[in-house]
Amino acid sequence: MMQRCEMCEASAVTVRQHEEKFVYGSGEDQVLLSAVVPVYECGECGEMYTGHEAEELRHEAVCRHLGRLTPREIRTIRESYRLTQEKFADVSGFGVASIKRWELGNQIQGESANNLLLLLRMPSNLLLVQEANKKQAFQPRFRTKISEIALQQSIEFKLRLPVVVEKAA
Ligand SMILES: [Zn+2]
Repeated sequence: MMQRCEMCEASAVTVRQHEEKFVYGSGEDQVLLSAVVPVYECGECGEMYTGHEAEELRHEAVCRHLGRLTPREIRTIRESYRLTQEKFADVSGFGVASIKRWELGNQIQGESANNLLLLLRMPSNLLLVQEANKKQAFQPRFRTKISEIALQQSIEFKLRLPVVVEKAA
């Protein structure tokens, strides 16, 4: 498809790859990142502009800088299992809204989410998680009728708390 100039609509648009430097972060965390992006130039009016791909490439550069999976990589993991975003949400425990935001590049996943995604890249880990979810789903709430006394005792049972040592009288 012929590219048309965004300004004058002429079809004399050429594209070239350009290494773009941009600032990311603020304060002490501020860094200069670079991304090779396609730049469009109009032979008629001289207008130069970047498109949506440039946005994605800048976003990927930020992800790489932070050591996080890129939106494309997250999508590749999910699609390697032929899972919809909804099914992937079920398996992973992530919210489907989060998965959508990550894959669209509207948000970069946090460190712990990124770690889990990295682990889920291995099929054996996905299987492990699926097995655990299955067991949880079939766990009966109460296996047998629990007596009043047993219930009373279970309420009194507490996880080990810091032990308070009473002073001798
Ligand atoms: Zn033009």
